[in-house]
Amino acid sequence: LFVVFEGGEGAGKSTQLALLAERLREQGREVVVTREPGATPIGERIRSLLLDRSGAEAPSPRAEALLYAADRAHHVATVVRPALVRGAVVISDRYVDSSLAYQGAGRTLPVDEVSWLSSWATGGLKPDLVVLLDVDSRTGLSRVAARSADVDRLEAESVAFHERVRYAFLDLAANDPKRYLVLDAAKPVDEIAGLVAGRVEAFLTD
Ligand code: C5P
Repeated sequence: LFVVFEGGEGAGKSTQLALLAERLREQGREVVVTREPGATPIGERIRSLLLDRSGAEAPSPRAEALLYAADRAHHVATVVRPALVRGAVVISDRYVDSSLAYQGAGRTLPVDEVSWLSSWATGGLKPDLVVLLDVDSRTGLSRVAARSADVDRLEAESVAFHERVRYAFLDLAANDPKRYLVLDAAKPVDEIAGLVAGRVEAFLTD
């Protein structure tokens, strides 16, 4: 089972991902928790090119899209597919939809091209379930303001950028409701965790 958490900044993905992993492990399942970008040694280096720029130049939008795709190609080939083949539950913090939302809608690259690039990178691997934690852009950004390392990079993007990202995620979910669980990230942590667990367990007992 391949589960992906998506959402904008400060949606609480990492908290929810950890709670789901803990719950499934308590049931004796093998769980592989992973993320994009940066789940592998090569991915770590790509992540720092993308995110820890400390004043260095930002990649151009197409270069950025290719770096995310390179990270994803290596991630799928070396982490995600082998784990799925073993029968593990794979839970990833971000996947293809982040590229459609950030590089496509956010940076205004043609979304169908970003989609094609992503399916080439992944060999067409799709998640069984995408949990979208939806948060109002301003609320999310103020939640991450506490993480000072991220603030300069995130504030370089306009609120309009983060709004485009948010609505792109919501659109993807609306077009494929069976594959998505959309939750309001403002709800209490335990309530969100319960809803996610319910949906995942339905998959596992099917
Ligand atoms: O999930 P996390 O907060 O670690 O993501 C790191 C950053 O990478 C986010 O701030 C997001 O803006 C950015 N990102 C992106 N495009 C992606 C994935 C992540 O711009 N495809």
